[in-house]
Amino acid sequence: MVACDPQKEAPYWFDEMTYSPEETVFKVFAPEHAQCYVVVGSDSVKMDETGLTPDPGLTPDPSPTGEGNNGEGELEGSVYQAVVKGDLKGKEYELVVNGVASPGVFAKAVTVNGQKGVVVDLRDSDPEGWADDHGMHPKDYAGWVVYEMHHRDFSINRPDAEHKGKFLALTEPWALDHLKELGVNAVHILPSYDYGSVDETRLDEPQYNWGYDPVNYNVPEGSYSTDPADPLCRIREFKQMVQALHNAGINVILDVVYNHTYDIEHSNFQRTYPDYYYRVGSNGSGCGNETASEKLMMRRFMIESVKYWIKEYHIDGFRFDLMGCHDIETMNLIRQAVDEIDPTIFIYGEGWSAGQCALPTEQLGVKANVPQMPRIAAFSDDLRDALRGPFSDDTKCGWLGRGASATDEETESMKAGIVGMISHPQVDYSQVNYSKEPYALEPTQMMAYVSCHDDMCLVDRLLASIPCISQNELIRLDLLAQTAVFTSQGVPFMLSGEELLRTKLGVHNSFESPDSINQLDWTQRERYPQVFDYYKNLIALRKHHPAFRMGNADLVRKNLQFLAAPVGVVAWQLKDHANGDTWADIIVVLNAQRKAVQVEVSEGVYTVVCSDGCIDEQGMGQVNGPTVSVGPQSALIMYK
Ligand code: CA
Repeated sequence: MVACDPQKEAPYWFDEMTYSPEETVFKVFAPEHAQCYVVVGSDSVKMDETGLTPDPGLTPDPSPTGEGNNGEGELEGSVYQAVVKGDLKGKEYELVVNGVASPGVFAKAVTVNGQKGVVVDLRDSDPEGWADDHGMHPKDYAGWVVYEMHHRDFSINRPDAEHKGKFLALTEPWALDHLKELGVNAVHILPSYDYGSVDETRLDEPQYNWGYDPVNYNVPEGSYSTDPADPLCRIREFKQMVQALHNAGINVILDVVYNHTYDIEHSNFQRTYPDYYYRVGSNGSGCGNETASEKLMMRRFMIESVKYWIKEYHIDGFRFDLMGCHDIETMNLIRQAVDEIDPTIFIYGEGWSAGQCALPTEQLGVKANVPQMPRIAAFSDDLRDALRGPFSDDTKCGWLGRGASATDEETESMKAGIVGMISHPQVDYSQVNYSKEPYALEPTQMMAYVSCHDDMCLVDRLLASIPCISQNELIRLDLLAQTAVFTSQGVPFMLSGEELLRTKLGVHNSFESPDSINQLDWTQRERYPQVFDYYKNLIALRKHHPAFRMGNADLVRKNLQFLAAPVGVVAWQLKDHANGDTWADIIVVLNAQRKAVQVEVSEGVYTVVCSDGCIDEQGMGQVNGPTVSVGPQSALIMYK
């Protein structure tokens, strides 16, 4: 057993290709006594077994319990190395282990479809001013406002987009203006590393995929570049995208899918070290090909890959796909390694798996174990499903659709979501739909959302689950749902296009649906200006008022008090200038009933800032306590 020191800089295993004009050094980690070659152009050069383990920092674990940073299993393998003289810039290469060729596991530049590695000087890919580029991270995690998007969905149907479906679309004024106006401060881009399900040589044909099928983890996807055959193009354009977003004050969060690969047989892991990186026979990913984060070198790979995206591409946050397939120790080591670079980088993930994992649940990064992963957040399916209905049945509604017949479970799950899944004296977790105990130590360990790329988008779900819903009701409930999300003490997250009243025409799993299903319809922004304005003003309200984002469990317990309310209504008060807010007392009432309701509040004169599907921070009139009326299927927010 050997320990893993995440503080070690660039262990040489991962520098599979180190270029200089005089020579290029190639390395690969492979089983002991393997026959290894690097094929560069037409030359095949033998790689010598160094006898060294991959990382000089990997030393026997001194802790007497044997616990701590151990990876599982004995590390049997060696680093092989070849030094090839001459200027190899631009040359293609493959690393060949026991007769099997691959670009290696940590290629940084590849040919079309990621088939071969390419010798590059990464500095050639830096756009002008790149050295000065950086994100603008909120000072605490409660300040993030996350917008989840797919490159193709966002721009493919935008008439004035120059680079439809490409990284570069996010450098264009229309895109940046839209995001800035909406007020989000982070885009979470669906998989943008090199994935396998889109053929980069046939981009003139319609192809679509979300991209949850990784091939080269540390190279941008070619189909989102203007020229996948030019190895530097995708790298440069990805950086241009990051730089343009950063210049617009928008951070970039990468969706990382370390839990499985496109397949096992042809994966770069398998081709360099057969059967090492996988939990063979386990299917926690639901896609097969489940990787083994608990194994030393897989763990190390994940840590180094995350660090690489931060350092080379200036990434500001990470969303871990099926975090519940990864072990807790690995997630904590990643958090620790990221902290060494910048503790304001935000990390969250899906606190579940898609099937049964080979590891015991108590070792996995599932929601229930979030208390053991400080400063890592997990999506709240509790809040999501309380609002819209269960993931298992699209035709069932939740609190939004049920109104006056809402269940105690829905109401209590809503309250748990509002406080950010922390322990709170007024929330009875025994009645919460999924989490029977608070899973968050701090409210910023909960992602608040009602829809994401998975499942139906919000409009489709409301249509599918509420019979005979009118267009007016649809809009009211849509806005009400997002009011719960953006007034939650968790970290708000929204699916791209919801601000345009997006529909995917009822498609539940659109991972390979055509553009006609997935694309945003930009004409809807003019058709439903009330919707966009409400989203925009809601985000601004949260941004301007720290009471909505206390970011601290004790503060939330002290300053957030639920009020008595009828069934189908959740009401609370943010009191005593919560978190330094200029407003002394803020009342939020969410009413899912189809009629207006009365709610008792403390005496006084209140200024209304949100009512009946409109928001105006400057005030929309005044009302007097102690009894206030809240319009049907809408939110009331007011302060004194
Ligand atoms: Ca690809």
